[in-house]
Amino acid sequence: MNISWLLHLPLPVLLLAVVAVLILGYALLRPTRRRRRDHGLHIARKHGRERSSEWARIAKEHRLREPACMACGYRGKDLQVHHIKPFHLHPHLELDPDNLITLCEAKGRDHHLLLGHLDAWDSYNEHIREDVKHFYRKTAVQIRADLHWQKKMSQRP
Ligand SMILES: [Zn+2]
Ligand SMILES: [Zn+2]
Repeated sequence: MNISWLLHLPLPVLLLAVVAVLILGYALLRPTRRRRRDHGLHIARKHGRERSSEWARIAKEHRLREPACMACGYRGKDLQVHHIKPFHLHPHLELDPDNLITLCEAKGRDHHLLLGHLDAWDSYNEHIREDVKHFYRKTAVQIRADLHWQKKMSQRP
């Protein structure tokens, strides 16, 4: 292949081509999406626990039963199956379907963190089932501004 014609291109065109190739290369090689952190597992490990080998199956079954965030109806990728009572404190409830609820980590809502954990991954909210109704469709800003939520957060376990 004869590429000598390349040398006759004006410099700005060459530079532009190089920049385009670099941008394209970056777009193709960059990791598609940062892996979402498994907060439940992270907290459990701090307490010396691992997830059960049954967890993936139980979580999948739960997602089929409850495919949307219970606090807003969101059905996208940013959903988590949350333990109402944390499984590092209640190991026998790790796989109990009654202890699970679907909550979102959708941008601007963060229902998993705000309602499920009262804004601290180490904490939890045993009244989440009432609270998803009370705070239904509220944004993160609205939730944080709510006096009822602020009181709950200040008294969180
Ligand atoms: Zn959770
Ligand atoms: Zn939500």
